[in-house]
Amino acid sequence: MDYKSAFRTALEQIRSEGRYRVFADLKRHRGEFPRATWTQADGTQSDVVVWCSNDYLGQGQNPIVLDAMHTAIEEAGAGSGGTRNISGTTAYHVELERELADLHGKESALLFTSGYVSNEASLSTLYKILPGLIIFSDELNHNSMISGIRAGKREQRRVFRHNDLAHLEELLAAAPADAPKVIAFESVYSMDGDIADMKGTVALARKYGAMTYLDEVHAVGMYGPRGAGVAERDGMMSEIDIIEGTLGKAFGVMGGYIAADAMIVDAIRSYADGFIFTTSLPPSLAAGAVASIRYLKEHDEVRVAHQERAAALKARLARAGLPVMPSVSHIVPVLVGDPVHCKMISDILLSDYGIYVQPINYPTVPRGTERLRFTPSPAHTDEMMDSLAEALEKLWVHCNIARVGGQAA
Ligand code: PMP
Repeated sequence: MDYKSAFRTALEQIRSEGRYRVFADLKRHRGEFPRATWTQADGTQSDVVVWCSNDYLGQGQNPIVLDAMHTAIEEAGAGSGGTRNISGTTAYHVELERELADLHGKESALLFTSGYVSNEASLSTLYKILPGLIIFSDELNHNSMISGIRAGKREQRRVFRHNDLAHLEELLAAAPADAPKVIAFESVYSMDGDIADMKGTVALARKYGAMTYLDEVHAVGMYGPRGAGVAERDGMMSEIDIIEGTLGKAFGVMGGYIAADAMIVDAIRSYADGFIFTTSLPPSLAAGAVASIRYLKEHDEVRVAHQERAAALKARLARAGLPVMPSVSHIVPVLVGDPVHCKMISDILLSDYGIYVQPINYPTVPRGTERLRFTPSPAHTDEMMDSLAEALEKLWVHCNIARVGGQAA
């Protein structure tokens, strides 16, 4: 086997599709979000505005969060020192799990090292607990959910068309009535910014005796009066069996979790490899997360400001004739439609305009729907939005991409 050439071929394949990624060297400065400094390969430095951070509310810079983390480092040191089952459970972890359970109005919560791990570990573990389980999965579910669901045998998985309840019902009705069933879906879909029909999904779950598993990764902190997500906003929290979320996006730190009835959490805790066999998060992260969750529980005005900024950006880009995709959330995707232009626009925005936004390409989104995905925060100003819209207008002409209203160059 010529190993080297196999690795080279694999990379060339990605390059030939225009999907090869180069990481930009960005330096952040405390309190300056969303501004950062970009250092080029030759050492040249320039100021940029970050437009694609999932630290949606800038909580990663909130002094209350940073202070809590510093204090925890002083008190407890750096790492957790082990897996949760051996020596990695501290008072910080326990407190965070209580806080998360309270946030979602559930009896219990379980912390994982990331949102990815929480989905992968929890969903794959459900097959161990529920023999013969069939998982019904929205086709646009995140890779971490798909990865967990793939732990089941082929006949234990059904994929329904995105947000298509008629198709979901067809699949539920065709499955054996006595088989245990779980419907796995998201609230805010991260790349399109649309929101699931939660009431309709729960109604089908009741009708066919299924449990519900809801990924609120792109909603926690940002929706609902206390920031518990879309289920809280829509009065549906008690109707969802397992709510999954991240601490790495709106809460500005890192980690993932599920919240559910105590018995469900206890069983997953006892069987999930991705929980059992890995070092737990550092106490400082848990402390920062607690501070962030508590802050956002009490500061609904941050969510109001965030929604206003998202609406302002959508309106500004639409006014410029750019193809803003029909998002009903804070996510602002602009369709480009091919990976080469998508990367080219992203590169020029960075080098010529000081605007940092990464291209979103296959496999994150289907081929032909490549896009730029903007995530405005409360700290993005009108001036930043004007600069962005003006730069995009020019680049759309430069790349000869059709604009809304037939304004193609
Ligand atoms: N679920 C969804 C819908 C996501 O978009 C992501 C990350 N982008 C995750 C789960 C994983 O969360 P984390 O980044 O905390 O691993």
